[in-house]
Amino acid sequence: MNPYYFDWAATSPMSERSIQAYTDTVRSYRGNPSALHKEGVEAAKFLAQERKKSASLLKVSSKQIVYTSGATESNSIVLQSLLWRRSPGRIIISAIEHDSILQYRRLLENKGFEVILLKAPKGYVDPEALAQVLDNKTQMVCIMQVNNVLGTVQDIPSIAKTIRAFEQTTGRSIHIHCDAVQAVGKIPFDLSSLDIDSASFSAHKFQGPKGTGILYLKSGNLEPLSRGGNQENGYRAGTENIGAIAAMNTALADSIAAIDTTYAHALTLRTHLESNLLKHGDRFSLLSPSTTCGLPFAPSILSVAVKGIPSEVFTRVMYDRGFCISSGSACSNNAPKKGEGILAGASITPEDAASAIRISFGPDTQITQIDELSATLVRQAALMGSLIRKR
Ligand code: PLP
Repeated sequence: MNPYYFDWAATSPMSERSIQAYTDTVRSYRGNPSALHKEGVEAAKFLAQERKKSASLLKVSSKQIVYTSGATESNSIVLQSLLWRRSPGRIIISAIEHDSILQYRRLLENKGFEVILLKAPKGYVDPEALAQVLDNKTQMVCIMQVNNVLGTVQDIPSIAKTIRAFEQTTGRSIHIHCDAVQAVGKIPFDLSSLDIDSASFSAHKFQGPKGTGILYLKSGNLEPLSRGGNQENGYRAGTENIGAIAAMNTALADSIAAIDTTYAHALTLRTHLESNLLKHGDRFSLLSPSTTCGLPFAPSILSVAVKGIPSEVFTRVMYDRGFCISSGSACSNNAPKKGEGILAGASITPEDAASAIRISFGPDTQITQIDELSATLVRQAALMGSLIRKR
């Protein structure tokens, strides 16, 4: 039996329309967009049309779209650019960022930057705490929109407002970077309202292909990560994957068009799952915000601690029973500290972090699957809890 898939925050299944767009494109265009012959010119024209499409979907200009291999690369282009600066300054990073950002801390510190890790209690950055660490040496602030483990949503427009007001007092500009990977297709998203300088996106999080993404770059002067070609305005050398770009745009258009339905569906599922688990509050504690707490959250992600049971063991047991769930962030499953880094950044206790599981779903998920999942979670938590207590 195919396991039920509850790991949409790690990656989502490609939609049929996105697969179709991929195959149609690679069948129709065989040229390299940089080639001078007709095949190349046609591929370049197609790429230009797709760039316009991405730009209009995100309500920005085509010049501001840089195609990349995904958010890891988009984040890297922005962060590694700092390493080229002549005079290091202060960089503020929220402590709940994805590892593709957090890993730059050590490199930046080695280059003489002062990196401030801004705690996000319960997964929320406090704009006042941010205001207190802004200084006239601050060069960049990195704050994600939707956290990939907790589903908490940051108020980016207010955060940007605080930063822009501070800029007025010093006359120096601060680059605001936002990892928006978990926002698109999960919550209503309006890039043009955020007042940021750059943002990262990955197609596979909204039912597009893996290994394709966008770096939105308002303007400015970043250093490329890959060199040896003039593609993507010089920001990203390498032959463009036009099939994957077309597939990404199809998935992007579909997920934007369906967002109200997707959001309402996820909220129904999330409310149901939360209430199923909270009936067993002795075994589970919510790490994500509750649906009733009044704070903004993405309903498609729910993290809970299964009290006293190590998350790796529990996720394996659940897989054996037919459910794909994740222990914290799948992206940091190879890292020594796993999702615990993000959870510690959200001031979650080490005990809860060690037993954290993440359940995430999408438009295809059915409420009956949620019931089966809840029943199995409850049964296995009880069984394993009694085994662990006996030891
Ligand atoms: N940022 C966030 C918030 C993520 O959740 C992920 C992947 O899980 C990434 C960045 C990296 O995306 P990719 O692996 O597609 O490069």
